[in-house]
Amino acid sequence: MQTPVVLVWLDCVAGDLFVEMYKKGYLENLVEIFEEGFFVENAVSCFPTVSEAAEGGIISGFFSGETNMVGERYFSRKQQRIKHYKFNARAEKDFNPKLRRKTLDAIIENSVAMGRIIHISEEVVDLIATRYEREGSLKIVERRIEIASKIAAEKKPNMLFFTISADYISHVYGRRSNMVKRFIKRFDELFPYLIEALDEAYGNGNYLLFVFSDHGSANVSKHLDLPAFLSEEGFNPAIPDLLIERRETNSAALSNGRRIGLLYFAHPEYGWRRRPGYKVLRNYPGKGDLLKLLVQEEGIEQAFARKDRRSVVVVSREGEGIIEYDSRSDKYRYRVVSGSDPLNYEIESRWMSEEEWLKATYDKEYPDAVVQIYNIFKTENCGDIVLNAASGWDFWEPWDIPYPELKASHGGLSRDEMVTFILAKGPKIRKSEIGYSRLIDIFATIAACYNMREIAADSHATERMLKQ
Ligand SMILES: [Zn+2]
Repeated sequence: MQTPVVLVWLDCVAGDLFVEMYKKGYLENLVEIFEEGFFVENAVSCFPTVSEAAEGGIISGFFSGETNMVGERYFSRKQQRIKHYKFNARAEKDFNPKLRRKTLDAIIENSVAMGRIIHISEEVVDLIATRYEREGSLKIVERRIEIASKIAAEKKPNMLFFTISADYISHVYGRRSNMVKRFIKRFDELFPYLIEALDEAYGNGNYLLFVFSDHGSANVSKHLDLPAFLSEEGFNPAIPDLLIERRETNSAALSNGRRIGLLYFAHPEYGWRRRPGYKVLRNYPGKGDLLKLLVQEEGIEQAFARKDRRSVVVVSREGEGIIEYDSRSDKYRYRVVSGSDPLNYEIESRWMSEEEWLKATYDKEYPDAVVQIYNIFKTENCGDIVLNAASGWDFWEPWDIPYPELKASHGGLSRDEMVTFILAKGPKIRKSEIGYSRLIDIFATIAACYNMREIAADSHATERMLKQ
């Protein structure tokens, strides 16, 4: 029998806070349990930094533009309406069919999940945990560990994949708030109970165990309403609070996690049947250069758009850059075309592999941006223009959940959102600490354990955790 896999998904826990608590020894149980295990201090998440993109990445080793998981919402050009996974769309239906046979769910039979968005495996729905999450109650930690332990004991699934969400409390109290610290501390206190149940179910340490956060968050205090912005500019955008077909619209704007903006435009002549294309975006009839128009807004840091099949432009108020991809060498190049560097990279411009880009940028302000921005445009569901919110800003819309106060958001490209951590242990996992990886590398490690290295080799995931 193959080694069982247990994925413990902490939703929206800021990586820097967790790592600080772990390294300072505040998380005694985790430190002890993972003493012989593997620790990644900077695990770069998937852009956009929302659970949909991270889950698609972890189960397949691909980025959001390839899995089609650009967030909980997108605008469908075909249906001329906003599609939302909580209401009128299903993530498992949109997940790229070409990758379906190459996911963790395909590799590992008999899995049970709790809190997943892409419902491919058997899903346990815990309404009490859902309520705790919505109320921002820390009881969610105990409840999730209790039920996960029960599932392990009773069902012994080959893969147990469950979330414990700190999303609400991060949004409401702030990314490094006392509430989030207490959440992490509580997780550490209760973790031994889960280990006890797993040891009992699978045999002492005889399973692959991963603990990670899907993305972080960024503190915000100001909001830019993108549909209202489009209206002010004379567009007729799809209304985000009524998911209905609207033939008369000529644009749509929405955010995911509130800090990535996706903007869609009808072709000025052919309407929604055709994408406007780069030239039109930079010279839209009656409006001019849409990218330049957008980055004039204080709440927008960068605007991205696909130039052609092999390049994507990066525009900020101060300058413009271009990302190019070469399929023969599988390398990317980024260079500043005018003004100052919109990504503040200060890296010599040359062709580099995905691994080289990760190494060069994981500790920068916008980790892994070159590789991940290029790849997000591969899906139809992506906007014609993608926006990254400026520091302190998000794209919250008035219809959105009325949080008492919204102190942090995510979805964007900042380090605070992009960088998390991974803890791993198991029979083949080596004892080591490494400086960086991608979150999707978890996929490569599991695939290698299941003798499916070739599947991971076709993806962006890299195996780093196993003993040689
Ligand atoms: Zn969230």
